[in-house]
Amino acid sequence: MINRVRKIVERTVVGDSVPALIRWGKRTPPSAIEKIRMDAFGEVVRYAAERQKFFARKLHERGIDPATVRRPEDLGDIFTTPEDLRSLPAEEFLCCEPELVFETTGTSGGPKRVYFSYAELDFAARYQAAGLYENGVRRGARVVCTFDGGYWISSWVTFRACEYLGVFCSAAGKPHPREIYSRMPIYKYDVIAADPTWLVSFTEIAEKEGTFPLRLIMAAGDRMTDVYRRYVEGVWKCPIVLAYGTTEVGGAGMECLRQDGYHLDDFNILFEVIEPDEKGYGELVATTLSRRTMPFIRYRIHDVTRFIKTPCACGAPLQRIERIRGRRDEMVVMGAGNMYPEIFERILHDVSGIDENWQVVVRQEGLHDILDFRMELTNGISTSAVESAIQANLKTLYPDVWANHACGMYQLRFTFLPRGSITQGRKRRRLIDERAA
Ligand SMILES: [Zn+2]
Repeated sequence: MINRVRKIVERTVVGDSVPALIRWGKRTPPSAIEKIRMDAFGEVVRYAAERQKFFARKLHERGIDPATVRRPEDLGDIFTTPEDLRSLPAEEFLCCEPELVFETTGTSGGPKRVYFSYAELDFAARYQAAGLYENGVRRGARVVCTFDGGYWISSWVTFRACEYLGVFCSAAGKPHPREIYSRMPIYKYDVIAADPTWLVSFTEIAEKEGTFPLRLIMAAGDRMTDVYRRYVEGVWKCPIVLAYGTTEVGGAGMECLRQDGYHLDDFNILFEVIEPDEKGYGELVATTLSRRTMPFIRYRIHDVTRFIKTPCACGAPLQRIERIRGRRDEMVVMGAGNMYPEIFERILHDVSGIDENWQVVVRQEGLHDILDFRMELTNGISTSAVESAIQANLKTLYPDVWANHACGMYQLRFTFLPRGSITQGRKRRRLIDERAA
């Protein structure tokens, strides 16, 4: 059930060996990878046109003949969205009898349910194995994976990736960091795969009680701020590579040790960045080329990023994207640029003396956009110390946003409120647009 083009290439040339897969990937010129990808795109489009009710209906409504589709643009405005997946029954997307199901909870609405076959899970695992291998994980390594279990996909992918690499692996669910810390000397783990916040708690224990030699940390999820990263790397004296993925798309990409953007899984997934702004940032859209149980044609991930055009110094021929800027539906367009809550989480993360319950509000005064940081002080620190810490972070972390400030495109305000006056609903809102429509 894996796409025909790649199946022929891989099974004849590569077999099941991860190093061979990597050698093949590196030998294959980008133009040939592009051809494999586009052939696979046409193939999955024709497959889904025949078997997927949702996609077939979209084609029919627009009068598109699937035989004429060569590239994503040929599908015009046909996309699959998280809202489609949440609101329609699975039968709308399933193309054959599934073998596995995973769930993902969004920031709003019920869970999305994504079905796979064993082979499809395996494929995702093989490419994660290739990424780990390129980042130095070899036979003899001992991996502990603390991605959440339950209906989540990531721990299964990492577990199977370790099997491909022939390395020792404990996929332990997500226990308290203390439980893993106490087992470090027993099982001699030297590779950790974990969520950023778990890693920080784990590292706080190690900072007090001592570290163990590690060769690599793989962190998933883009909530790994630079501050967290420097802290965890500093304590363990070990590099962190970030992996990026979603349940719908599967593993999408991983950093190399240069830590400069995610190398994408160009063989299994076709990525587009749609509606880019003048700097190239737009919404990431993915087509799952090798899935046949529940393929997604042009799935809108709603994450905003851009392609990195220059080749990576590591030599991998895979395309790269920058770290995720934020969610498209949380974006506020203003004089400072396109703003996302994540930007302010990064800026305020290490500013001391303010309560966690801050908000940033975009307002308008006369003809000017105002970026208003609303905060509550916690320990009698001077407001000017907080203001200069924020300005320094803004300057260092987002020079383009700072440059717009220097050009007078917006003004900064700092509002200090009494404790308890910033109230948040069930879902915390960090960035609020109060300008009149
Ligand atoms: Zn690289």
